[in-house]
Amino acid sequence: MITELEFVPVPARDLDRIRCNGYDDHGNPLVPRTSGAGAPLRCCLRLSREGEQIALISYRPSELGGPYAEIGPVFVHVEACPGFTGSSFPADFIDRRAVLRPYDAAGQMLEGVLAEPGESEGELKRLFDDPAVALVHVRNVIAGCWNFSVRRKAA
Ligand SMILES: [Zn+2]
Repeated sequence: MITELEFVPVPARDLDRIRCNGYDDHGNPLVPRTSGAGAPLRCCLRLSREGEQIALISYRPSELGGPYAEIGPVFVHVEACPGFTGSSFPADFIDRRAVLRPYDAAGQMLEGVLAEPGESEGELKRLFDDPAVALVHVRNVIAGCWNFSVRRKAA
């Protein structure tokens, strides 16, 4: 059986609330800045283009909760944006090294993987072969920042 995966950005409802408040959920103001190229945007799951208005906010990406549910910095568009509508691994992230960090259904961290450029998709499929894996975070290698989550698509 092929496991279909879902790639999860910062959800629109969270972005709407943060943009409306002008603050993230952790008290940091939403400060617009003009982007250079290449900032990983967690709203649209692509790299920024030169001149886009983006902001760095704090976000807690794990809906599973528990002590492993870290809060960290993410870039998002300042204004309403299309979000991520794709159904496959986000193209701009394919050639980036990544830490793939799996969690079980209780939010406990399982053994992660360091994926080299081009390896993330295959490594994800392998991780989800383990029925204990409920969620995987795709994170930056050096800073450890969350890029997006991956889960099994609901049947
Ligand atoms: Zn966006």
